Amino acid sequence: MENKANIRFLGAAREVTGSKFLIETPERQLLIDCGLFQGLKELRLLNWQDLPIGVSKIDVVLLTHGHLDHVGYLPRLVKQGFKGKIIGTSPTLAIAEIILKDSAKIHEEDAKKANEEEYTKHNPAKPFYSLLEAELTIKQFEAANENQWIHLSDHISYRFQYNGHILGATFIELDIFEKRFVFSGDIGRQHDYLLDPPKQPEWADVLVLESTYGNKLHPEEYLEETLTQTIMETFNKKGTLVIPSFAVERLQTLMYILWKLYQKNKIPNIPMVIDSPMGNNVLNLFKQFPDWHKLSTKDFKAMCHQFRIIQSYKETWEVIDDNRPKIIIAGSGMVTGGRVLTYLQQLIDNPATTILLVGYQAEGTRGRQLLEGVHEIRFYGKYYPVKAQVKNIESLSAHADQAEIIEWLGKIKNIPEQVYLVHGEASSLDALRLKIKQTFGWTTCIPKLNDSFEVVP
Ligand SMILES: [Zn+2]
Repeated sequence: MENKANIRFLGAAREVTGSKFLIETPERQLLIDCGLFQGLKELRLLNWQDLPIGVSKIDVVLLTHGHLDHVGYLPRLVKQGFKGKIIGTSPTLAIAEIILKDSAKIHEEDAKKANEEEYTKHNPAKPFYSLLEAELTIKQFEAANENQWIHLSDHISYRFQYNGHILGATFIELDIFEKRFVFSGDIGRQHDYLLDPPKQPEWADVLVLESTYGNKLHPEEYLEETLTQTIMETFNKKGTLVIPSFAVERLQTLMYILWKLYQKNKIPNIPMVIDSPMGNNVLNLFKQFPDWHKLSTKDFKAMCHQFRIIQSYKETWEVIDDNRPKIIIAGSGMVTGGRVLTYLQQLIDNPATTILLVGYQAEGTRGRQLLEGVHEIRFYGKYYPVKAQVKNIESLSAHADQAEIIEWLGKIKNIPEQVYLVHGEASSLDALRLKIKQTFGWTTCIPKLNDSFEVVP
């Protein structure tokens, strides 16, 4: 048996979404992450194609974390014949479960709506996957401990290591025939409100590195001042501040910051509304996994108490009809779906409304359109004029910026033989390639979709 491994890039290659990396060895076949392509239509269409590999031959899937662009393709993988275990840390699997069920419901609702309103070219429109298919996928989940080597076969072991991106998130170290593979996953920040700084790898023969903010330094924003100012403006113009937010981590971080601002008397006592069924579920995970974040049980309770947490769609309409100035945090973060669509359909043509974007807005999403200043925007086949003020905060990102990525690499003692830059748009990948060359002298490769490389001992 030859001791060689192959690495193949089935997603997040020269783009930010769809993370899927196949490792083929004579002993086992592993898939690292199994994410959905999101954003531009040509990308989303890729999701509908079967993977160009023998899916039934994959033995195991390892998940770095629970975000949709890292887990959202799992039900399709199962549908194509994957029978093995899907392994991640307990919070990662809990988040993946929430995300898969939620996205299955959105797929079902979208298909139903498209059929009823007949704006689809597909007849009938089918959901990308159903709730039942998501539930069957979850049956293949198996939890693993963080910071513990796990033996997969004679010459393959792996370990999940905390990387501070979201609850449960890790990078993955894989030892295959004496070679150390490191998959960065999405790297977290050095200073975060809720999470500790990421651990760092100390050796990597083959490194697969995320590059989301490879060309950027997060601005030294006065985040709390900007938020306070935006809330005061909203209060004074008796409007609504709508914050489209990712349900995982971002929403809880915003809750924490707003609660702190209120405690410090920086903002008035106006209704603060959380409208995200998925966000509520993730909030419960913060209670369930206290060791994975910095918030004390007492602070967690006090924080939750400050918000009206919406439970039903009927309440959503009560909030819309309430004319008082208010703050609404609702999913989804890039305005691609979720409750925020209902609020914006009603409020986006009102100049008293402010929309505050708080994270990465991928190409092709409504969030990106708003960021770029569009004058009208489409929801469910209908156009609405954008009269609301649109603002943007970048520093709340859950991703390391260029300097933090370089810092994260700083403990690696060897010169990696192969470094692959993934999970970034072209300009980020190229800027990070140059920065790594300058800083460490390492040569890096920017793989294309479906590229495959051999790793020989
Ligand atoms: Zn992520």
